[in-house]
Amino acid sequence: MQPYVTLPNKQYLSEPGSKTAASLYIDGAWKAASGGGTREVLNPYDASVLTVVSEAGPTDAEVAVAAARRAFDEGDWRHRPAGERGEILNRIADLLQRDRDEIALMESLDTGKTIEEGGIDVDDVTAVFRYYAGLADKDAGRIIEAPEGVSSKVVYEPVGVCAMITPWNYPLLQLSWKMAPAIATGNTMVIKPSEITPVTTCKLVELAEEAGVPAGVVNLVLGAGAEAGSALVESPDVDLVSFTGGLATGKRIMAGAADTVKKVALELGGKNPNIIFPDVDLDTAVDYALSAAFFHSGQVCSAGARLIVHEDIHDDFVGELARRAEEIRIGCGQEEGVRCGPLVSAEHRAKVEAAVARGVEEGARVIAGGKRPDEPELAKGYFFRPTVFVDCDRSMDIVQTEVFGPVVTVEKFRTEAEAIELGNDTDYGLSGGVWTDDTGRGERVAAALRHGTVWINDYGPYFPGAEWGGFKHSGVGRELGHAGLDEYREAKHIYRNLDPRPQRWFG
Ligand code: NAD
Repeated sequence: MQPYVTLPNKQYLSEPGSKTAASLYIDGAWKAASGGGTREVLNPYDASVLTVVSEAGPTDAEVAVAAARRAFDEGDWRHRPAGERGEILNRIADLLQRDRDEIALMESLDTGKTIEEGGIDVDDVTAVFRYYAGLADKDAGRIIEAPEGVSSKVVYEPVGVCAMITPWNYPLLQLSWKMAPAIATGNTMVIKPSEITPVTTCKLVELAEEAGVPAGVVNLVLGAGAEAGSALVESPDVDLVSFTGGLATGKRIMAGAADTVKKVALELGGKNPNIIFPDVDLDTAVDYALSAAFFHSGQVCSAGARLIVHEDIHDDFVGELARRAEEIRIGCGQEEGVRCGPLVSAEHRAKVEAAVARGVEEGARVIAGGKRPDEPELAKGYFFRPTVFVDCDRSMDIVQTEVFGPVVTVEKFRTEAEAIELGNDTDYGLSGGVWTDDTGRGERVAAALRHGTVWINDYGPYFPGAEWGGFKHSGVGRELGHAGLDEYREAKHIYRNLDPRPQRWFG
């Protein structure tokens, strides 16, 4: 059986082999890159060319920023009633559900994830648009208590032109966390998705247009980070850059934005501890540990890639974990029954393989996976088997550095204090899990962990209304929730003297 499926026909997606493409969306129109540049987008399942899209350079980024600037400064977008922007967000949510199957397939083909995961992403993204649709007209500001003769109020205004730079693991989802609150608050934007997974971002922009977003409010440039991306970061006409991606890129973006003192919001990586106490049901804890580590082949910023297991259950736990990891069915994301697709690219798999080799050199022991699959039909794709490392300790690179692939390490602990110390012994602080039947202990450990999200007896769920983001090197600022809206608005204090008279301070 050949499970390969092609992308739907779209004006912004050119056939494999094409020399032209019009996938930039600037000032309300789909356009080719000014230099005529194109890029082949590959299917990670078999390395075939999925589509050809435009490749923007710095000039295209500048043109897109100028369009966003004009729409912000001269258009009526930010002055419209907030409820109108909320209605647009609800329309986008409706359209996402109308095209759910198409979008799920697009995301699966582009990133390698399963269609089922693609569908879950569409539902999550729909919920994010609906959440911010509901918030759009709920909080215009507040009256401040002031002395007699004075009125004082705080009002919220949009930040301005926002650059949104997103990664390849959740292209649609990560964009929605930025785009929905930015629209709700009346900003204009230029979006730059990862150059290797641009497909569903184009689709979301198409839906925004259909939902009635005015020309110039949402603009899209596709292209390399160092070219189109850094032009956005350095542009004096961009007021805010919101970035999701790797730590090294995040540091570059922070530095690049310094000269123009723009606001910076960063969602970076994680090396997330998942702590297992001995009083849990082993079968359940192993089951969740597998999903935490290997969902989307571990290419998840919050992946539970660092298991910290009590010594009393360690051997039974890792035995079962390895057995079940070996049974995970990997394959084409469009084939039913497949649980893990390929990694996103050849370059990324090479990085994962290098990390695994370093782990072995350091003395960690592979008890599951550690290699590419043997099935000949998977040989062309970027596959790597779910991998379990034991005999790990906190000094190892494999324990400390984000691998962002299907690799989990296991460390042992004895006391609660030791578990907390290990869980916090990381430069990152994005998320973590704790498994115990003891409610008090669960709450104590959750309170002590220096991570932006902590799950007790679960791993992975999030809600649009709950803030998401990192302590320490995992980022700056928060997405989702009220704080996610605040990233996109400026608070302004308006003070009015109701009866001004001379003060005579200077006589
Ligand atoms: P990446 O940093 O390589 O790229 C992310 C984006 O930045 C891409 O669009 C890329 O083109 C762009 N970029 C690269 N260099 C740039 C530059 N100099 N200037 C401007 N833009 C530039 O990340 P990735 O490999 O696409 O994604 C994986 C990383 O993302 C992982 O570290 C993961 O943990 C992180 N991530 C974090 C979250 C979160 O919520 N905290 C969510 C998803 C992914």
